[in-house]
Amino acid sequence: MAKVLYCRDLGMDCDFVARGETDDEILRKAEEHAERVHGMSEVSPDMEDKILDNIHEDAERGTELEAERSEEYEADEEAERGIR
Ligand SMILES: [Zn+2]
Repeated sequence: MAKVLYCRDLGMDCDFVARGETDDEILRKAEEHAERVHGMSEVSPDMEDKILDNIHEDAERGTELEAERSEEYEADEEAERGIR
């Protein structure tokens, strides 16, 4: 089951969405994003808890995710840079 995390849910004014199959995968993407886009040199244990609390099941996309993963990753990168 695919899962999703909205950066906005963490209190950021940001449209970044991290998708993955597991909490770990999303956590890694979120950490990378926080570092690159929000200038956090590391994610604190508190922030990590907050991220884990805000990971939802991605009900809308379901199994289509597999085929679209690479395209979607590029789209996420554009969103990170604010090109939308
Ligand atoms: Zn963000």
